[in-house]
Amino acid sequence: MKKRIALVAHDSRKQELKEWVYYNRDILKNCDIYATGTTGEMIKNIEDCDEDLLDDCLYHFFKPFENNVTKLLSGPLGGDQQIGSMIAEGKLDALIFFCDNLITQGHAQDIQALARLASLYNVAYANNRTTADMIITSPLFNDPNYERIIPSCIEKYASRFN
Ligand code: PGA
Repeated sequence: MKKRIALVAHDSRKQELKEWVYYNRDILKNCDIYATGTTGEMIKNIEDCDEDLLDDCLYHFFKPFENNVTKLLSGPLGGDQQIGSMIAEGKLDALIFFCDNLITQGHAQDIQALARLASLYNVAYANNRTTADMIITSPLFNDPNYERIIPSCIEKYASRFN
């Protein structure tokens, strides 16, 4: 099964995420990507070019992520909460979220809630580029035998009145 990865970047860090996606395009092309609205649109439009130089010296440009990005709502309009819901339902393997750390966001609570769910459900979660690189290049990331452990406290909590 393909890895399911959510990508989000605040406006001041969208360029950084774009560069990160391009840098890791060979891995990410084989993932199912979910992204908040504006971030997703940006990723879909990332261009790559074929190595082969054509006769007329023109490179052939294409969009490697055009068809493997599912766009959710824009983050401030509920997209972060949609990602949180996917985590709670076991539909995501990793979350990469490049936050603007210098301003307070109107949807700060949504971001906190998302980070909390990623932690609770033991989902791989990066909020900077180095960690993001390390997650997706980890041998465990593509190991079909590696299973994320669902913390036992979840089942215990869910059945506390049984
Ligand atoms: P956006 O949302 O991708 O729609 O800009 C990002 C966010 O603020 O969570």
